[in-house]
Amino acid sequence: MGALNVAASWVGTTALGPGRRSVVWVQGCPFHCAGCMSPDWIPDVPARSVKPAALAAELLADPGVEGLTFSGGEPMRQAAGLAELIRAARRIRDTTLVCFSGYTLRHLRTRPPTPGVPDLLDEVDVLIDGLYVAALDDGRGLRGSGNQRVHHLSGRLADCGYDFAGRDRSAEIAVDGREALLIGVPPPALLTVFDAAVDHVRQSSIGGRA
Ligand code: SF4
Repeated sequence: MGALNVAASWVGTTALGPGRRSVVWVQGCPFHCAGCMSPDWIPDVPARSVKPAALAAELLADPGVEGLTFSGGEPMRQAAGLAELIRAARRIRDTTLVCFSGYTLRHLRTRPPTPGVPDLLDEVDVLIDGLYVAALDDGRGLRGSGNQRVHHLSGRLADCGYDFAGRDRSAEIAVDGREALLIGVPPPALLTVFDAAVDHVRQSSIGGRA
């Protein structure tokens, strides 16, 4: 199996699905939604290259992690590698899977954009599908805008008490060296504050080196 092209990953968060989870954001997305919160991860350029089995071990190094979340970028463009990743994780221990996609489930089933899509869909417990539409961002739930749908493909997380569509939003800011990562689907105002803070730090850093 080939390597995944990963924009970022994080071990142990409660901001992207039920329980404690690890997250993979893949690099590259064919869509250009206005207001996308991760525009740096849209270009299809090389980022971190990592084998699925190695990444699975890394993501489950925290024994409290009970699930993975795939986001991006567009996970379905790397579906075969992500299917291998979740299978490798499940060989380590039982792990739930939440996956985001800009494609609708109907599109994925009728015209899969890559050959690995059916394999990945077979592994997904919850798919949150559809493009982000800023005008329909109601500030609720794990989906970014009201047009996006929550599909309980396996039913495994349907009764876990986690309201994917209507819950109050939460987000975490993780700092790793000089990089800051906003984890979660934030209330719109938080994203604005985060972007301004990152710009401020970058400007200060440029000024400091000049
Ligand atoms: S599908 Fe997601 S990652 Fe791609 S442009 Fe839209 S919001 Fe951004």
